[in-house]
Amino acid sequence: MRAIIPDAWKGQRMKNGHRLPMKNDLGFYEMRFESVGGLGANLTGQILAEALVVGQGFNGAHFSTYGSEKKGSPVKSFVRVCAPEQEVRSSSPVSRPHLLAVFHSCLLSVTGTTSGLYEDSAVVVNSADSPEKIRDRARVVSGTVAVVDALGIAVQERTRINTVMLGAIVRVAGFIDPEIVKKHIAANIGDRYPHLVEPNRKSFERGFNEVKIEKVPYDSRFASAELHHGPIHEMVAEGHGAVLDAGTEFELLLRPGPALGYDNAPPGGTVVNPGNTIHKDHSASRQGIFPLYHRDRCIDCGLCTLTCPDYVFVWGPGVDREGHPAMVMRGPNLQYCKGCLKCVVICPVEALTMECERPEFRYTADPQLWGPIDALVNKGRDNEPAKWEQEEGYYWHRVG
Ligand code: SF4
Ligand code: SF4
Repeated sequence: MRAIIPDAWKGQRMKNGHRLPMKNDLGFYEMRFESVGGLGANLTGQILAEALVVGQGFNGAHFSTYGSEKKGSPVKSFVRVCAPEQEVRSSSPVSRPHLLAVFHSCLLSVTGTTSGLYEDSAVVVNSADSPEKIRDRARVVSGTVAVVDALGIAVQERTRINTVMLGAIVRVAGFIDPEIVKKHIAANIGDRYPHLVEPNRKSFERGFNEVKIEKVPYDSRFASAELHHGPIHEMVAEGHGAVLDAGTEFELLLRPGPALGYDNAPPGGTVVNPGNTIHKDHSASRQGIFPLYHRDRCIDCGLCTLTCPDYVFVWGPGVDREGHPAMVMRGPNLQYCKGCLKCVVICPVEALTMECERPEFRYTADPQLWGPIDALVNKGRDNEPAKWEQEEGYYWHRVG
């Protein structure tokens, strides 16, 4: 489909002679955004595609895939762009991105997030870590790694992370005009939220200026079948092995097939292994914020437990304020928390407050209550400091 160009934007089309820096066999430059619901990846793709097609005169398409309409569910957004004289005849998801943006660094531990990269693809990650650390976590074989502390900037500018990520993406892509993107941010946000245009413009500029970009040379430690993205017989036939150093041994990433299929699944979708969610870690569902529990303020009213959609709160035997034996709140088991903060809103005594996650926040599959370093100052009901222990160099475990 050809772009319909508003009169006001006509002078901007291809004004700098923009050319696509890379193309696949079908003539497309392709981007994939890996995210979770609520971080704004869909709007990021929409603004970017509008800027490229309407503003810069390319042809292109944008669409997203997501599950149930709730915060925390996986979201993928795709932008595909080509020369103006070419028609977009593909609507399939982008499996081999020239640019991959990861809106939540926890997604780096999810299988498939970084799949399909080319040798010279660029990966942009929302993280306060260094590009070297992110390269190791993402196992990027070669290409470009860029990091931007989108959450930190968004908190300071009181926006969402998507415009910060958009600034970083535009800088890393190198062929997208930032001034045109800013116009489209204003056009998308200004109608409904005119007061948010300026903070989002600033977030975009900070993302553009503060992103740390590093070219990473080929590293055989991270080489796997993922890089070449195809069945092994095709890889051998295409001679992909030549990419590796002579003598390098590499492990093919072969995933086992599903244990249950149409011919052996139990009738009615029965769950045959109850308790199987104990190993689920929902930290990748949070947007970087979580409810911090303050035992000294809690009155054990139970409103948070009634409100929480994911049954996160843990109760246990204790004593009430009169000293009688009672079930008392022990706090949220953050392994299951998706960070919707409904509990923070409902709590009548501010015993739950919104906090930002930091690198020391890691949660294990153990049904324990984990906490931050600064929670050491929390007081217990007996007005003694709550006791916390650190394990494995990462985890703070409430023991008092
Ligand atoms: S933020 Fe609160 S209400 Fe939301 S999932 Fe976490 S514990 Fe439950
Ligand atoms: S709503 Fe607040 S006061 Fe009530 S049990 Fe939950 S944390 Fe405690």
